[in-house]
Amino acid sequence: MSTDVPFLALAPIYEELREEIDAVALRVLHSGWFIGGPEAERFEAAFAAYTGAAHAVGVGNGLDALHLTLRAMEIGPGDEVIVASNSFIATMLAVSMTGATPVMVEPDSATYNLDPARVEEAITPRTKVVLPTHLYGQPADLDALLAIARRHGLKLVEDAAQAHGARYRGVRVGAHGDAVCWSFYPSKNLGAAGDGGGVTTNDPALAARIRTLGNYGSAERYVNIEKGVNSRLDPLHAAIMGVKLPHLDAWNARRASIASLYLDTLRDCDLVLPHVPNWAEPVWHLFVVHTPRRDALRATLAADGIATQIHYPIPAHRQAAYAELGFGEGSFPIAERLAAETLSLPIGPHMTMDQAERVVGAVRAASTA
Ligand SMILES: *Cc1c(COP(=O)(O)O)cnc(C)c1O
Repeated sequence: MSTDVPFLALAPIYEELREEIDAVALRVLHSGWFIGGPEAERFEAAFAAYTGAAHAVGVGNGLDALHLTLRAMEIGPGDEVIVASNSFIATMLAVSMTGATPVMVEPDSATYNLDPARVEEAITPRTKVVLPTHLYGQPADLDALLAIARRHGLKLVEDAAQAHGARYRGVRVGAHGDAVCWSFYPSKNLGAAGDGGGVTTNDPALAARIRTLGNYGSAERYVNIEKGVNSRLDPLHAAIMGVKLPHLDAWNARRASIASLYLDTLRDCDLVLPHVPNWAEPVWHLFVVHTPRRDALRATLAADGIATQIHYPIPAHRQAAYAELGFGEGSFPIAERLAAETLSLPIGPHMTMDQAERVVGAVRAASTA
C-alpha cells in the first residue's frame, strides 16, 4: 500500500518558510501592535504592487471584501447584481448581505466562468453590478464583461478569491474591473494563518470608503460617518503573507506543472478536462474534471488513498439558504449538471510529481476501461 495523496497539504508551506515566518510572527508579537499599523500597510502596498492595482485594502475575509465593496458602491435593496450560477455561495451571500438580489446567470459550459452573452440578456433597469468569479483560478472573459458593463453603465466587481496571480491577456488580475475582491483563507493560493481578505482597486475614493466601512464607518477615531462593521486584516496575517507573497509565482508555477501533467496524461480518459482559452493564464487553485460517473470515480480514488473534493455539490439556488428565490430543480441546468459531475483532483504547490503520477495512474485505471 503506497502512501496517501492528500487533497492539499498546507503544513509544507510553513515548513518551506519556517524561519522567516517565525521571525515575522515574533516581530509582530513583540511590537505590541495587533490591529492595522505598519505590518498591515506594508502587506497592502506589496499586494497592490503585485496585482498592479493602485490601492489594496485589507479586510477580515473574502466574504467581507465582496460585501464591503458592494456597500461602498451604494448597492442595496431593489438593486440586482449578476453572478455566475455555479460560483461558491459566498459570492451570492455578499450580494444578499447588502439587501440586493443576486441574479444568477449560467456559466459558459467550457470555461465554467460567467458567459458574457447571458450576462447581457440578464440586465434589467435594476442591474447595478456584474460580479464574475474567476472560478478555480481561471480568469473570466474580462474584456467582454467590461465592455458590457461600460455599455450599460454598470460596475464590474471581480471575485478573485481563487485567482491570486492569474493573468488575463498577460495582465495580472487585480485592476481590470472597478474593484477586485480577494480571500486569504488558508487554502487559497495566497493564504493567511486564519481568515483574511482584501480589495484591490485603482479608485482611491472606493478604497477609502471600504476601509472606513470595515472600521465601524469611521475614518477618524470615534467619528462615525456611517454604520460600518469590524472587518480588518490583522498584522500577524499581513506579516506572514508578506513572507509568502514573493513565493506565490513559484508556487503557482508548480501547480501549473501538475495541471500540465494531468492535461497531457488524462486526455484520452472518459472525462471532461479543464478548457483554457488562449487569453487565460490560470493559477490552478483547483483542477476540476467532470464525469457523470463522478461518485464512482471518487470512491475508487478514495480506496486508492487519493483524496478528492467537490466544488460545489449543491448550487446556491438549490440551497435551503436561497429557498426564498423559489428556484426548483432544473432552473439552472448547467450549474446543476456541473454540480452533479464535478470532481477536484489533488493539486498544490507542495504536491510531488510522484504523487501526481499516482493520481494519473489511478484516474486512468478507473476511466479508460
Ligand atoms: C473562498 C471564497 C470566497 C470567500 O472567502 P472567505 O475568505 O472564506 O470569506 C468567496 N468567493 C470565492 C469564489 C471563494 O472561493
